Amino acid sequence: MPGFELFGEEERKHINDVMETGIIMRYGFDGPRKGIFKSVELEKKITETFGCSYAQLASSGTAALTTAMAALNIGYGDEIIMPAFTFVASFEAVLSVGAIPVLVDIDETLTLNPVAVRAAITPKTKCVMPVHMCGSMADLDALKAICKEHNLILIEDACQAIGGTYKGKALGTIGDAGTFSFDFVKTITCGEGGVVMTNNKDVYIKCDGYTDHGHDHLGVDRGADLHPFIGYNYRISELHAALGLAQIGKLDKILSIQKNNNLILKSYLEQIPEVTFRSVPDAEGDSYSFISWFLPTEALMQAAIEELKEQGILAGNFYWFNNNWHYIKKWQHLKEVHTLNNISNEQKAALLKLQTQDFSASDAIMSRCISTAISLAWTEDQIHDKGAKMAAAIKKAISK
Ligand SMILES: *Cc1c(COP(=O)(O)O)cnc(C)c1O
Repeated sequence: MPGFELFGEEERKHINDVMETGIIMRYGFDGPRKGIFKSVELEKKITETFGCSYAQLASSGTAALTTAMAALNIGYGDEIIMPAFTFVASFEAVLSVGAIPVLVDIDETLTLNPVAVRAAITPKTKCVMPVHMCGSMADLDALKAICKEHNLILIEDACQAIGGTYKGKALGTIGDAGTFSFDFVKTITCGEGGVVMTNNKDVYIKCDGYTDHGHDHLGVDRGADLHPFIGYNYRISELHAALGLAQIGKLDKILSIQKNNNLILKSYLEQIPEVTFRSVPDAEGDSYSFISWFLPTEALMQAAIEELKEQGILAGNFYWFNNNWHYIKKWQHLKEVHTLNNISNEQKAALLKLQTQDFSASDAIMSRCISTAISLAWTEDQIHDKGAKMAAAIKKAISK
Protein backbone atom coordinates (compact mmCIF):
# COMPACT_ATOMS: atom_id res chain seq x y z
CA MET A 1 0.00 0.00 0.00
CA PRO A 2 2.61 2.69 0.72
CA GLY A 3 3.26 5.16 -2.08
CA PHE A 4 6.68 5.90 -0.60
CA GLU A 5 7.86 2.68 -2.19
CA LEU A 6 7.71 4.49 -5.54
CA PHE A 7 9.54 7.69 -4.54
CA GLY A 8 11.70 8.97 -7.40
CA GLU A 9 12.62 11.94 -9.57
CA GLU A 10 9.05 13.30 -9.66
CA GLU A 11 8.93 13.89 -5.90
CA ARG A 12 12.30 15.64 -6.03
CA LYS A 13 11.20 17.83 -8.92
CA HIS A 14 8.03 19.09 -7.24
CA ILE A 15 9.87 19.77 -3.99
CA ASN A 16 12.62 21.61 -5.86
CA ASP A 17 9.97 23.78 -7.57
CA VAL A 18 8.98 25.02 -4.12
CA MET A 19 12.58 25.52 -3.02
CA GLU A 20 13.27 27.64 -6.13
CA THR A 21 11.28 30.40 -4.47
CA GLY A 22 11.52 29.21 -0.87
CA ILE A 23 7.84 29.99 -0.26
CA ILE A 24 6.86 26.96 1.78
CA MET A 25 3.63 28.48 3.11
CA ARG A 26 0.47 27.80 1.10
CA TYR A 27 -1.12 31.24 1.59
CA GLY A 28 0.14 34.73 0.85
CA PHE A 29 3.51 35.83 -0.59
CA ASP A 30 1.87 36.03 -4.01
CA GLY A 31 4.71 38.04 -5.58
CA PRO A 32 7.73 36.00 -4.44
CA ARG A 33 6.05 32.62 -5.03
CA LYS A 34 6.13 33.22 -8.79
CA GLY A 35 2.88 31.43 -9.55
CA ILE A 36 3.77 28.26 -7.63
CA PHE A 37 0.74 27.02 -5.68
CA LYS A 38 1.33 23.31 -4.98
CA SER A 39 -1.49 23.00 -2.42
CA VAL A 40 -4.04 24.61 -4.73
CA GLU A 41 -2.86 22.41 -7.58
CA LEU A 42 -3.11 19.27 -5.45
CA GLU A 43 -6.62 20.17 -4.29
CA LYS A 44 -7.68 20.60 -7.93
CA LYS A 45 -6.09 17.26 -8.85
CA ILE A 46 -7.91 15.56 -5.96
CA THR A 47 -11.30 16.86 -7.12
CA GLU A 48 -10.59 15.68 -10.68
CA THR A 49 -9.13 12.31 -9.71
CA PHE A 50 -11.77 11.31 -7.20
CA GLY A 51 -14.76 13.12 -8.65
CA CYS A 52 -15.85 15.50 -5.91
CA SER A 53 -16.71 19.20 -6.08
CA TYR A 54 -14.34 20.42 -3.36
CA ALA A 55 -11.17 19.35 -1.59
CA GLN A 56 -9.50 21.02 1.39
CA LEU A 57 -6.03 19.86 2.33
CA ALA A 58 -5.04 19.65 6.00
CA SER A 59 -1.91 18.88 7.99
CA SER A 60 -2.95 15.26 8.65
CA GLY A 61 -5.79 12.82 8.21
CA THR A 62 -6.69 13.37 11.86
CA ALA A 63 -6.86 17.14 11.28
CA ALA A 64 -8.99 16.50 8.18
CA LEU A 65 -11.48 14.44 10.22
CA THR A 66 -11.63 17.10 12.95
CA THR A 67 -12.15 19.78 10.30
CA ALA A 68 -14.94 17.83 8.58
CA MET A 69 -16.73 17.36 11.89
CA ALA A 70 -16.47 21.03 12.85
CA ALA A 71 -17.61 22.14 9.39
CA LEU A 72 -20.64 19.86 9.67
CA ASN A 73 -21.47 21.40 13.05
CA ILE A 74 -20.73 18.28 15.08
CA GLY A 75 -19.67 19.17 18.59
CA TYR A 76 -20.46 19.18 22.30
CA GLY A 77 -22.79 16.36 23.33
CA ASP A 78 -23.29 14.99 19.81
CA GLU A 79 -22.90 11.25 19.39
CA ILE A 80 -20.96 9.82 16.46
CA ILE A 81 -21.48 6.15 15.74
CA MET A 82 -18.23 4.54 14.62
CA PRO A 83 -16.68 1.07 14.45
CA ALA A 84 -14.71 -0.63 17.25
CA PHE A 85 -12.07 -1.56 14.66
CA THR A 86 -10.32 1.52 13.26
CA PHE A 87 -7.19 3.58 13.80
CA VAL A 88 -7.03 5.70 16.99
CA ALA A 89 -7.23 8.86 14.85
CA SER A 90 -10.95 8.30 14.25
CA PHE A 91 -11.94 8.67 17.91
CA GLU A 92 -9.26 11.31 18.57
CA ALA A 93 -11.01 13.56 16.05
CA VAL A 94 -14.42 12.93 17.62
CA LEU A 95 -13.11 13.79 21.09
CA SER A 96 -11.31 16.88 19.79
CA VAL A 97 -14.56 18.55 18.73
CA GLY A 98 -16.23 17.71 22.05
CA ALA A 99 -18.40 14.95 20.63
CA ILE A 100 -18.94 11.43 21.93
CA PRO A 101 -17.57 8.39 20.12
CA VAL A 102 -20.17 5.62 20.21
CA LEU A 103 -18.25 2.48 19.31
CA VAL A 104 -20.25 -0.37 17.82
CA ASP A 105 -19.64 -3.84 16.43
CA ILE A 106 -18.23 -4.59 13.04
CA ASP A 107 -19.22 -7.41 10.71
CA GLU A 108 -17.22 -9.33 8.11
CA THR A 109 -16.86 -6.16 6.02
CA LEU A 110 -14.43 -5.24 8.86
CA THR A 111 -16.36 -2.05 9.44
CA LEU A 112 -19.76 -0.92 10.70
CA ASN A 113 -22.45 -3.57 11.00
CA PRO A 114 -25.63 -1.71 9.93
CA VAL A 115 -27.69 -3.65 12.48
CA ALA A 116 -25.37 -2.50 15.27
CA VAL A 117 -25.57 1.08 13.97
CA ARG A 118 -29.36 1.05 14.08
CA ALA A 119 -29.34 -0.33 17.63
CA ALA A 120 -26.99 2.46 18.80
CA ILE A 121 -29.09 5.39 17.60
CA THR A 122 -30.32 7.72 20.34
CA PRO A 123 -31.85 11.22 20.26
CA LYS A 124 -28.27 12.55 20.57
CA THR A 125 -26.92 10.74 17.52
CA LYS A 126 -25.73 13.24 14.95
CA CYS A 127 -23.46 11.32 12.64
CA VAL A 128 -22.51 7.87 11.39
CA MET A 129 -18.85 7.43 10.51
CA PRO A 130 -17.87 4.24 8.72
CA VAL A 131 -14.13 3.63 8.44
CA HIS A 132 -13.17 1.95 5.18
CA MET A 133 -10.46 -0.18 6.77
CA CYS A 134 -7.64 -1.87 4.90
CA GLY A 135 -8.53 -0.64 1.46
CA SER A 136 -12.09 -1.87 1.21
CA MET A 137 -15.47 -0.43 2.03
CA ALA A 138 -18.47 -0.37 4.34
CA ASP A 139 -21.96 -1.34 3.21
CA LEU A 140 -22.66 2.25 2.17
CA ASP A 141 -26.17 1.75 0.77
CA ALA A 142 -27.34 0.33 4.08
CA LEU A 143 -25.64 3.11 6.07
CA LYS A 144 -26.93 5.83 3.76
CA ALA A 145 -30.46 4.49 4.20
CA ILE A 146 -30.10 4.65 8.00
CA CYS A 147 -28.75 8.21 7.82
CA LYS A 148 -31.59 9.31 5.59
CA GLU A 149 -34.22 7.72 7.76
CA HIS A 150 -32.87 9.32 10.96
CA ASN A 151 -31.59 12.56 9.42
CA LEU A 152 -27.97 11.85 10.33
CA ILE A 153 -24.73 13.10 8.82
CA LEU A 154 -22.53 10.55 7.04
CA ILE A 155 -18.75 11.08 7.28
CA GLU A 156 -16.51 8.54 5.57
CA ASP A 157 -13.14 7.94 7.17
CA ALA A 158 -11.56 6.81 3.91
CA CYS A 159 -8.00 7.41 5.16
CA GLN A 160 -7.04 3.80 4.38
CA ALA A 161 -9.06 3.48 1.20
CA ILE A 162 -7.51 5.85 -1.33
CA GLY A 163 -8.42 4.57 -4.79
CA GLY A 164 -11.27 2.35 -3.60
CA THR A 165 -14.74 2.85 -5.06
CA TYR A 166 -18.33 1.94 -4.28
CA LYS A 167 -20.74 1.53 -7.18
CA GLY A 168 -18.49 3.64 -9.37
CA LYS A 169 -17.91 6.49 -6.92
CA ALA A 170 -14.64 7.08 -5.08
CA LEU A 171 -14.71 6.17 -1.40
CA GLY A 172 -14.57 9.40 0.56
CA THR A 173 -16.81 11.30 -1.88
CA ILE A 174 -20.09 9.57 -1.06
CA GLY A 175 -21.02 10.91 2.37
CA ASP A 176 -21.59 14.53 3.44
CA ALA A 177 -17.82 14.64 3.73
CA GLY A 178 -14.98 12.14 3.50
CA THR A 179 -11.31 12.18 4.38
CA PHE A 180 -8.05 10.72 3.16
CA SER A 181 -4.80 10.59 5.09
CA PHE A 182 -1.53 11.18 3.26
CA ASP A 183 0.70 10.14 6.15
CA PHE A 184 3.86 8.19 5.43
CA VAL A 185 2.33 4.72 5.13
CA LYS A 186 -0.79 5.53 3.14
CA THR A 187 -1.47 4.66 -0.52
CA ILE A 188 -0.21 8.06 -1.59
CA THR A 189 1.76 10.18 0.83
CA CYS A 190 2.64 13.82 1.46
CA GLY A 191 4.90 12.78 4.35
CA GLU A 192 2.17 14.19 6.57
CA GLY A 193 -1.15 15.45 5.29
CA GLY A 194 -4.82 14.80 4.74
CA VAL A 195 -7.81 16.07 2.84
CA VAL A 196 -11.52 16.68 3.35
CA MET A 197 -13.62 16.02 0.27
CA THR A 198 -17.20 17.22 -0.08
CA ASN A 199 -19.78 18.20 -2.67
CA ASN A 200 -21.25 20.85 -0.38
CA LYS A 201 -19.88 24.35 -0.97
CA ASP A 202 -20.83 25.64 2.47
CA VAL A 203 -19.02 22.73 4.15
CA TYR A 204 -15.99 23.35 1.96
CA ILE A 205 -15.82 27.08 2.78
CA LYS A 206 -15.97 26.25 6.47
CA CYS A 207 -13.17 23.67 6.08
CA ASP A 208 -11.09 26.24 4.22
CA GLY A 209 -11.37 28.74 7.05
CA TYR A 210 -11.18 26.24 9.91
CA THR A 211 -7.79 24.88 8.80
CA ASP A 212 -6.35 28.42 8.74
CA HIS A 213 -7.32 30.25 11.95
CA GLY A 214 -10.78 31.08 10.58
CA HIS A 215 -9.44 33.30 7.78
CA ASP A 216 -12.09 34.06 5.15
CA HIS A 217 -9.48 34.12 2.34
CA LEU A 218 -11.54 36.67 0.46
CA GLY A 219 -9.09 39.49 -0.10
CA VAL A 220 -5.61 39.70 -1.62
CA ASP A 221 -4.13 40.93 1.67
CA ARG A 222 -3.92 38.05 4.13
CA GLY A 223 -3.45 40.51 6.99
CA ALA A 224 -6.81 42.09 6.21
CA ASP A 225 -8.78 38.82 6.09
CA LEU A 226 -11.84 38.71 8.30
CA HIS A 227 -12.56 35.88 10.73
CA PRO A 228 -16.21 34.88 10.53
CA PHE A 229 -15.56 32.04 13.01
CA ILE A 230 -12.77 30.61 15.18
CA GLY A 231 -10.45 28.21 13.42
CA TYR A 232 -7.14 26.48 14.12
CA ASN A 233 -3.91 25.90 12.28
CA TYR A 234 -4.34 22.63 10.42
CA ARG A 235 -2.58 23.91 7.28
CA ILE A 236 -0.52 21.74 4.99
CA SER A 237 2.81 23.14 3.80
CA GLU A 238 3.82 23.57 0.17
CA LEU A 239 6.60 21.00 0.58
CA HIS A 240 4.12 18.37 1.70
CA ALA A 241 1.70 19.29 -1.07
CA ALA A 242 4.56 19.07 -3.60
CA LEU A 243 5.23 15.50 -2.52
CA GLY A 244 1.53 14.76 -2.83
CA LEU A 245 1.40 16.13 -6.36
CA ALA A 246 4.14 13.75 -7.45
CA GLN A 247 2.39 10.89 -5.72
CA ILE A 248 -1.09 11.50 -7.13
CA GLY A 249 0.51 11.34 -10.56
CA LYS A 250 1.50 7.77 -9.70
CA LEU A 251 -1.85 6.70 -8.28
CA ASP A 252 -2.96 4.64 -11.28
CA LYS A 253 0.36 2.85 -11.33
CA ILE A 254 0.21 2.21 -7.57
CA LEU A 255 -3.31 0.80 -7.80
CA SER A 256 -2.49 -1.44 -10.72
CA ILE A 257 0.63 -2.88 -9.05
CA GLN A 258 -1.36 -3.34 -5.85
CA LYS A 259 -4.10 -5.28 -7.64
CA ASN A 260 -1.64 -7.44 -9.55
CA ASN A 261 0.39 -8.33 -6.44
CA ASN A 262 -2.72 -8.83 -4.33
CA LEU A 263 -4.36 -11.27 -6.72
CA ILE A 264 -1.25 -13.40 -7.15
CA LEU A 265 -0.76 -13.70 -3.41
CA LYS A 266 -4.45 -14.30 -2.83
CA SER A 267 -4.47 -17.19 -5.30
CA TYR A 268 -2.28 -19.12 -2.83
CA LEU A 269 -4.55 -18.45 0.13
CA GLU A 270 -7.62 -19.37 -1.93
CA GLN A 271 -6.31 -22.89 -2.25
CA ILE A 272 -6.82 -23.49 1.46
CA PRO A 273 -10.46 -24.49 2.09
CA GLU A 274 -10.38 -23.21 5.68
CA VAL A 275 -9.37 -19.68 4.62
CA THR A 276 -12.18 -17.22 3.93
CA PHE A 277 -12.00 -13.55 3.04
CA ARG A 278 -13.60 -10.33 4.26
CA SER A 279 -16.86 -9.50 2.55
CA VAL A 280 -16.59 -6.61 0.13
CA PRO A 281 -19.93 -4.85 -0.52
CA ASP A 282 -18.79 -3.86 -4.03
CA ALA A 283 -16.17 -6.35 -5.21
CA GLU A 284 -15.22 -4.03 -8.09
CA GLY A 285 -14.26 -1.30 -5.65
CA ASP A 286 -11.56 -2.91 -3.52
CA SER A 287 -8.32 -0.92 -3.65
CA TYR A 288 -6.35 -4.15 -3.10
CA SER A 289 -4.00 -2.61 -0.54
CA PHE A 290 -4.51 -5.58 1.82
CA ILE A 291 -5.77 -9.15 1.78
CA SER A 292 -7.92 -9.59 4.87
CA TRP A 293 -8.52 -13.26 5.57
CA PHE A 294 -10.04 -15.44 8.27
CA LEU A 295 -9.55 -18.89 9.75
CA PRO A 296 -12.51 -20.74 11.29
CA THR A 297 -11.44 -20.30 14.94
CA GLU A 298 -9.23 -18.10 17.09
CA ALA A 299 -7.20 -21.15 18.12
CA LEU A 300 -6.41 -21.97 14.49
CA MET A 301 -5.45 -18.36 13.83
CA GLN A 302 -3.13 -18.36 16.86
CA ALA A 303 -1.53 -21.55 15.59
CA ALA A 304 -1.11 -20.04 12.13
CA ILE A 305 0.51 -16.93 13.62
CA GLU A 306 2.96 -19.12 15.57
CA GLU A 307 3.84 -20.97 12.39
CA LEU A 308 4.26 -17.76 10.35
CA LYS A 309 6.49 -16.41 13.12
CA GLU A 310 8.51 -19.63 13.19
CA GLN A 311 9.12 -19.38 9.44
CA GLY A 312 10.12 -15.71 9.76
CA ILE A 313 7.29 -14.54 7.49
CA LEU A 314 4.95 -12.87 9.98
CA ALA A 315 6.06 -9.35 8.99
CA GLY A 316 3.39 -7.55 6.99
CA ASN A 317 0.67 -9.83 8.37
CA PHE A 318 -1.31 -7.71 10.79
CA TYR A 319 -3.21 -9.42 13.58
CA TRP A 320 -5.25 -6.39 14.59
CA PHE A 321 -6.93 -8.21 17.50
CA ASN A 322 -3.74 -7.83 19.55
CA ASN A 323 -2.66 -4.52 18.09
CA ASN A 324 -2.51 -1.40 20.26
CA TRP A 325 -3.56 1.04 17.57
CA HIS A 326 -6.51 -0.50 15.84
CA TYR A 327 -8.92 -2.36 18.07
CA ILE A 328 -10.98 -1.54 21.17
CA LYS A 329 -9.53 -4.46 23.14
CA LYS A 330 -6.18 -2.70 23.66
CA TRP A 331 -7.37 0.91 23.90
CA GLN A 332 -6.81 1.14 27.66
CA HIS A 333 -6.02 4.86 27.39
CA LEU A 334 -9.45 5.47 25.85
CA LYS A 335 -11.44 3.20 28.17
CA GLU A 336 -9.70 4.62 31.27
CA VAL A 337 -9.90 8.22 30.03
CA HIS A 338 -6.20 9.04 30.15
CA THR A 339 -6.49 12.58 28.84
CA LEU A 340 -4.04 15.35 29.63
CA ASN A 341 -6.72 18.01 29.84
CA ASN A 342 -10.11 17.84 31.48
CA ILE A 343 -12.93 16.70 29.19
CA SER A 344 -16.69 16.99 29.56
CA ASN A 345 -18.56 14.74 31.98
CA GLU A 346 -20.60 13.39 29.07
CA GLN A 347 -17.47 12.32 27.20
CA LYS A 348 -15.94 10.83 30.35
CA ALA A 349 -19.04 8.80 31.16
CA ALA A 350 -19.31 7.49 27.62
CA LEU A 351 -15.67 6.39 27.55
CA LEU A 352 -15.84 4.67 30.95
CA LYS A 353 -18.86 2.73 29.72
CA LEU A 354 -16.69 1.14 27.01
CA GLN A 355 -15.01 -0.95 29.75
CA THR A 356 -18.11 -3.06 30.16
CA GLN A 357 -19.64 -2.85 26.69
CA ASP A 358 -20.01 -6.21 24.97
CA PHE A 359 -17.86 -6.44 21.84
CA SER A 360 -17.99 -10.23 21.59
CA ALA A 361 -19.44 -10.08 18.06
CA SER A 362 -16.42 -8.03 16.92
CA ASP A 363 -14.01 -10.19 18.94
CA ALA A 364 -15.36 -13.26 17.16
CA ILE A 365 -14.38 -11.71 13.84
CA MET A 366 -11.15 -9.88 14.71
CA SER A 367 -9.68 -12.83 16.64
CA ARG A 368 -9.81 -14.88 13.42
CA CYS A 369 -8.58 -12.17 11.06
CA ILE A 370 -5.24 -11.22 9.57
CA SER A 371 -4.70 -8.42 7.06
CA THR A 372 -1.73 -8.98 4.80
CA ALA A 373 -0.30 -5.69 3.51
CA ILE A 374 0.52 -5.61 -0.19
CA SER A 375 3.91 -4.15 -1.07
CA LEU A 376 4.55 -2.32 -4.33
CA ALA A 377 8.19 -3.37 -4.19
CA TRP A 378 7.71 -7.14 -4.44
CA THR A 379 8.91 -8.91 -7.58
CA GLU A 380 6.64 -11.61 -9.03
CA ASP A 381 9.10 -14.25 -7.85
CA GLN A 382 8.98 -12.86 -4.33
CA ILE A 383 5.18 -12.93 -4.34
CA HIS A 384 5.06 -16.57 -5.49
CA ASP A 385 7.64 -17.47 -2.88
CA LYS A 386 5.74 -15.60 -0.16
CA GLY A 387 2.42 -17.14 -1.25
CA ALA A 388 3.78 -20.67 -1.22
CA LYS A 389 5.42 -20.20 2.19
CA MET A 390 2.35 -18.58 3.74
CA ALA A 391 0.06 -21.31 2.41
CA ALA A 392 2.39 -24.02 3.69
CA ALA A 393 2.58 -22.44 7.14
CA ILE A 394 -1.19 -22.05 7.39
CA LYS A 395 -1.81 -25.62 6.23
CA LYS A 396 0.73 -26.93 8.73
CA ALA A 397 -0.98 -25.04 11.55
CA ILE A 398 -4.38 -26.38 10.53
CA SER A 399 -3.21 -29.98 10.31
CA LYS A 400 -1.68 -29.98 13.80
C1 LIG B 1 -4.12 7.00 8.88
C2 LIG B 1 -5.51 7.08 9.36
C3 LIG B 1 -6.12 8.28 9.81
C4 LIG B 1 -5.42 9.61 9.88
O1 LIG B 1 -4.14 9.54 10.23
P1 LIG B 1 -3.01 10.68 10.15
O2 LIG B 1 -1.80 9.90 10.51
O3 LIG B 1 -3.41 11.71 11.10
O4 LIG B 1 -2.93 11.21 8.74
C5 LIG B 1 -7.45 8.25 10.18
N1 LIG B 1 -8.16 7.12 10.13
C6 LIG B 1 -7.64 5.96 9.70
C7 LIG B 1 -8.51 4.75 9.63
C8 LIG B 1 -6.29 5.88 9.33
O5 LIG B 1 -5.78 4.73 8.94
